[in-house]
Amino acid sequence: MGHRAKRIAIVGGGIGGMTAAAALYQRGFEVTVYERAASLGEVGFGLQLGPNAVKVARTIGIFDELKRFAVQPSAMVSLKWDTAELRYRNSWDRMQRRFGAPYMMAHRPDLHDALIAKVPANAIHLNKTCASITNSKDGATATFADGTQIEADAIVGADGIHSVVRKALFGESIARFTNQICWRAMVPMEDAPSQVGPAGAVALKTTDYIGWIGPTGHVICYPVRGGKYMNIFAGRVSEQWADESWSILSSVDEMLQAYAGWNDALLGMFRKIKSCYRWGIYDREPLETWVNGRIGLVGDAAHPMMPTLAQGAAQSMEDGLAIARILADHKDDLASGLKAYDRERQPRGRKVQLQAREQFNNNRKPVAPPPISTDWIYGYDADTGETKIAD
Ligand SMILES: Cc1cc2nc3c(=O)[nH]c(=O)nc-3n(C[C@H](O)[C@H](O)[C@H](O)COP(=O)(O)OP(=O)(O)OC[C@H]3O[C@@H](n4cnc5c(N)ncnc54)[C@H](O)[C@@H]3O)c2cc1C
Repeated sequence: MGHRAKRIAIVGGGIGGMTAAAALYQRGFEVTVYERAASLGEVGFGLQLGPNAVKVARTIGIFDELKRFAVQPSAMVSLKWDTAELRYRNSWDRMQRRFGAPYMMAHRPDLHDALIAKVPANAIHLNKTCASITNSKDGATATFADGTQIEADAIVGADGIHSVVRKALFGESIARFTNQICWRAMVPMEDAPSQVGPAGAVALKTTDYIGWIGPTGHVICYPVRGGKYMNIFAGRVSEQWADESWSILSSVDEMLQAYAGWNDALLGMFRKIKSCYRWGIYDREPLETWVNGRIGLVGDAAHPMMPTLAQGAAQSMEDGLAIARILADHKDDLASGLKAYDRERQPRGRKVQLQAREQFNNNRKPVAPPPISTDWIYGYDADTGETKIAD
């Protein structure tokens, strides 16, 4: 047995892949990322980072960056869709005390850039589309669309909801359209309303997280980029999703049509949107296992979930840190390490995936049951695998 660093290849350089890359690199692995895109820049949207995701960011060493570009919301404000009357306003101050980290709102490219900066630039290979993957005697092999092949001691599949790696390991599975579509957009903060409701009775702060709740959908607005922009997520129930593409350029007119009759202040903000995308929301049935031999899945490749609990990226970050921690404890037997990762992570990922679906179904019931508790999600620390919740 030599002492050379173990080589781990990562297919896909999104949030999950880059978290895994940073955490593995920090633990002495030789890491290489293979990303399909020609560049790592992208059109970006807001991501909510629950305390469990912020804890991962802290362990990776990007908490200072996060504090610069992300926003800690002061309160959750719930408004009626048509009159903008206040349903409730809840303080978010308890998050830090209760779960050991704050809840934060980030612009995805800002978070992505901070993770990328933790990995040597020459470890990231762009324009590499994985076409197939197999286990070999002492490792695993990935083949790319350009005909090249690489071998590593283990391979992490972090290639998102349409994962080629998952398909190669576990076969085709049907992605389920969840009858939800959504638009995502951003406006400068000065274009977001500050007084709403009858006679302008409800004052909104630039640090508020605002939910407009209606019978056919909900619109979530929160600040990103140090509070300079308001991120808009407009979700709507729809039986139809005719487009083949899952995320397409949309238009303000299309949004205004979908939200006809909603409050004027909200529609006024929509009119200020310069560009927006429409998404069909899909998920899949949970996988029984995320691992086969020397190949393991992280993120949406393992557990594509509905955005109802805002946990897709957070779980991807947890996976990335956990796989590095566990493989570092099994450097001489990576196959056993991957099995241990599967045992630890699969039950949790599966439960979040199913609860996100359950919460979505609950939201649509005429009398909504109380919200599913997320304490067990937020209290978790992927650096230790333990959950702590203060009273
Ligand atoms: C509308 C919406 C709102 C959301 N809001 C939130 C939120 O508030 N909070 C939250 O935590 N999560 C949220 N999510 C979920 C979150 O965006 C995803 O769960 C998360 O980005 C998954 O990360 P990932 O790294 O697994 O996959 P991705 O971010 O999809 O990255 C996969 C990467 O793999 C690359 N790739 C794909 N195929 C190949 C291939 N064959 N070869 C090489 N590379 C490949 C892709 O180019 C991409 O860079 C939301 C999702 C949606 C749709």
